[in-house]
Amino acid sequence: MRRKLAAGNWKMNGLGSALSELAAIAGCETRQTDLLICPPATLLGRAADTAAAGSCAIGGQDCHARESGAHTGDISAAMLADAGASHVLVGHSERRSDHGESDADVCAKTTAAWAAGLTAVLCLGESLAQRRSGDTLAVIGAQLAGSLPDGANGDNTVIAYEPIWAIGSGLIPEMAQIAEVHDFLRRALVERLGDDGDRIRLLYGGSVKPGNATEIFAVSNVDGALVGGASLKAADFKAIVAALDAA
Ligand code: PEP
Repeated sequence: MRRKLAAGNWKMNGLGSALSELAAIAGCETRQTDLLICPPATLLGRAADTAAAGSCAIGGQDCHARESGAHTGDISAAMLADAGASHVLVGHSERRSDHGESDADVCAKTTAAWAAGLTAVLCLGESLAQRRSGDTLAVIGAQLAGSLPDGANGDNTVIAYEPIWAIGSGLIPEMAQIAEVHDFLRRALVERLGDDGDRIRLLYGGSVKPGNATEIFAVSNVDGALVGGASLKAADFKAIVAALDAA
């Protein structure tokens, strides 16, 4: 069976003072749900030390596809691992839009993450225009095919379905729409990877809050959540973890 996963993406938020929120999250008592927080790179080392006292994994928010070299401002997967990360987000829609990352770029980053021993949390999602034109499954299918390298399995990969229009907007899809995409992803993964595809956890992301978590976690093939804004406050994130534990 797939274990549940509650993952938080702090984006470009968090100074040293935010580590008290992480300490509270890491101290969260849960046996059913794995916890992951992806703080900004500046906090990674301190976050890893803080989380070590509890039960929360630490992840990067992006990595470069190369191991080292002349790439000013970038961070390699090996550097993330060296700083104490066990996971890294790849292909978040804000990276795809702000930095023009293509599926091929995301695929190369995923391969780099694996080579450094990290679990890649691969993000996929459609725009509002693509949803309205009925292209959601075609878009998600193409992103999956183009961004996920061969060799994915339940240990090295997590997939997060994040409709772009739901991120930070307070909007969420209908539950039937989440189910449609998650069931589609599961079928595509099993078709391509067999049992390994069945073991890859599928997270929903986009405006997950304590108030909507329970209904989202009841949807088929939702194994957890990737949470942005509501992961910044331990009380909100812990309420989401509680909803996942109870699902
Ligand atoms: C995200 O950025 O991955 C995200 C899901 O953000 P939010 O929860 O704030 O919509």
